[in-house]
Amino acid sequence: MEQIHSVFGMQSYSLAAKRAGKKLGLVPTMGKFHEGHLSLMRKAREDCDATVVSLFVNPAQFSPGEDYANYPRDHEGDRVLAEKEGVDVLFCPPAEEIYPPDFQAKVSLPGLENKLCGLHRPIHFSGVATVVLKLFNIVRPDRAYFGEKDYQQLLVIKRLVKDLNVDTEVIGLPTVREPDGLAMSSRNEYLRGDERDSARSLFQALQSARNLVASGERNAARIKEKMRETIGEKPGTEIQYISICHPETLEDMEEVKETALAALAVRVGKARLIDNCILSAQVQSD
Ligand code: AMP
Repeated sequence: MEQIHSVFGMQSYSLAAKRAGKKLGLVPTMGKFHEGHLSLMRKAREDCDATVVSLFVNPAQFSPGEDYANYPRDHEGDRVLAEKEGVDVLFCPPAEEIYPPDFQAKVSLPGLENKLCGLHRPIHFSGVATVVLKLFNIVRPDRAYFGEKDYQQLLVIKRLVKDLNVDTEVIGLPTVREPDGLAMSSRNEYLRGDERDSARSLFQALQSARNLVASGERNAARIKEKMRETIGEKPGTEIQYISICHPETLEDMEEVKETALAALAVRVGKARLIDNCILSAQVQSD
């Protein structure tokens, strides 16, 4: 596996790969790999002739006061895991390579940004969209792989690609979970002692929403109330939002019709955790 640190080096690699007729896959990450990241790499390997994994903790998507400085980093551990997965290139540029001092551009998708997580992390999705567009322009991947765990991010990237005619196919892959249901996340390592149990309640809340819908409940307010109850009130646990919304526009829904997205963000100790699932209102047939 090759490690590339410069934009020029990455562009040269991609150009040569394209000239050789290779199909390129890109997996953008911020590192500290877990099975969620590895599942994206495996799929990229399966689909493409060469797989590039970018490893870049993007300062532009962290607001002041968030965990940019303390975000879990383990370059050497990540290198070993990526190599084991058969990744061809680990693209790990320093921040100044991506954001030189005269950098100005900003991509914004106001309709999707100002919902769910965006209401609590105002610059986040613009920071994500900007860096992902840069990565797409540098690597020129045929396909790029993202996790449904970050559902709103996936929608933002799909919209970005569609609106700006980016020639990359965006693939979303299912959330990889711990055996007890907790969605894997690099930030899970912030959890201490009892906080691990509280963290599991996000998945339990989503399951309770699914069960209610399966038993015929369609009223979003009642579903959200049940989710709130499932999480409960514990010291150090603070619900940021619970939403039942349209799976494409993220507009709030009052009733679950056909499908809806159940999404939530909960702060547990130092960790801000997110999770989501699709709720399907089964059509009755007789
Ligand atoms: P991150 O390093 O957290 O920015 O994540 C890099 C990519 O991995 C994103 O597309 C995430 O959605 C995806 N990802 C993170 N956690 C999971 C998970 N538990 N299951 C599947 N994909 C994930």
